[in-house]
Amino acid sequence: MSKKLFVLPGDGIGAEVMGPAVEVMQAAADLVGCKIEISEGLVGGVAIDATGEPLPAETLAQAQAADAVLLGGVGGPKWDDLPMHQRPEKGLLGLRQGLGLFANLRPALLFAPLADASSLKADLVSNLDILIIRELTGGIYFGEPRGIEQRENEKVGFNTLVYSEAEIDRIARVGFDLAQKRNRKLCSVDKANVLEVSQLWREVVNGVHKDYPDVELSHMYVDNAAMQLVRAPKQFDVIVTGNMFGDILSDVAAMLTGSLGMLPSASLASTGVGLYEPVHGTAPDIAGQDIANPLATILSVAMMYRYSLGEPGAAEAIEAAVAKVLAENYRTADIDDGQDRQRVGTGEMGQLVINRL
Ligand code: NAD
Repeated sequence: MSKKLFVLPGDGIGAEVMGPAVEVMQAAADLVGCKIEISEGLVGGVAIDATGEPLPAETLAQAQAADAVLLGGVGGPKWDDLPMHQRPEKGLLGLRQGLGLFANLRPALLFAPLADASSLKADLVSNLDILIIRELTGGIYFGEPRGIEQRENEKVGFNTLVYSEAEIDRIARVGFDLAQKRNRKLCSVDKANVLEVSQLWREVVNGVHKDYPDVELSHMYVDNAAMQLVRAPKQFDVIVTGNMFGDILSDVAAMLTGSLGMLPSASLASTGVGLYEPVHGTAPDIAGQDIANPLATILSVAMMYRYSLGEPGAAEAIEAAVAKVLAENYRTADIDDGQDRQRVGTGEMGQLVINRL
């Protein structure tokens, strides 16, 4: 049976990086003999222009019927003045909600030839390969009660950090499952010395651990985790944490690699459908110039093969092809350090990866 892949190029450089990414998707499928069917839809600004809605009902229905969705990016100055509920970003939020994506996977992977781009010393980050799993639909960003209200003589703002056993259990299982496919080390990050919700988090994670005796589990307070990520990031394999801690730690980890144009991401639902997208946005400052780096989106395709299509061989082939192109000194402008590199554009970088596949 062929796998249904739904592609949403979106706006700005999203549409530009999607061309090479789709070609890599097809080339990798041919390589491992995986049958795929690719269809394309509208989301974000282009969807607003065509239909008046950032997430047309047809787009959501097609995404829900797919095995995996690949998104370029949404947004841009053209749509910045629209009211909040009509903005392109609403399309992305609607997609996340409509697909029930509760687990956000952000690898921080640093190909050795790019180690000098990091703000850390090259030997601390060269060949870095860690995976941060962030709970995406619960925690303090969604907890009730929340608000700003007048109490006696002053206004007070408040939010609620809440996690149920079921929410912790399901994200912990994602962490253990993925650690099993990697180096079998899972670090759960919390603030159990201060927060009751973290004490429950720890208790539930320890309980789930009994089903994964082959994975080495550790716990770390979030303040220490932030410090360890910049002190010795290679000590980690997989990190699992709640929504807000994950939001912050995944950006710290992203910066370790020094390059927005290289970072893929995945968001998974319990149904198995996944949304794959580069971490970067639509980069209006460089859109339309054929200079955007397509590798974050191409590496998102690799994640799609690994986590939604059950084809780890295709994922490894794509990652190896990217590593080879970088080792051969080809660079888009954003990762060119000026040291005798061969500068290439978006389309050419994509073609180089396909040739190495
Ligand atoms: P951005 O990630 O688009 O760009 C930040 C900087 O990084 C820019 O200088 C850009 O040129 C550069 N950059 C980003 N991706 C690159 C690539 N692949 N190759 C080379 N250079 C790259 O973030 P921003 O400027 O804050 O936002 C621009 C627009 O993107 C806004 O409308 C924002 O809302 C939207 N956005 C969308 C998403 C998404 O769809 N998931 C995420 C973030 C931002």
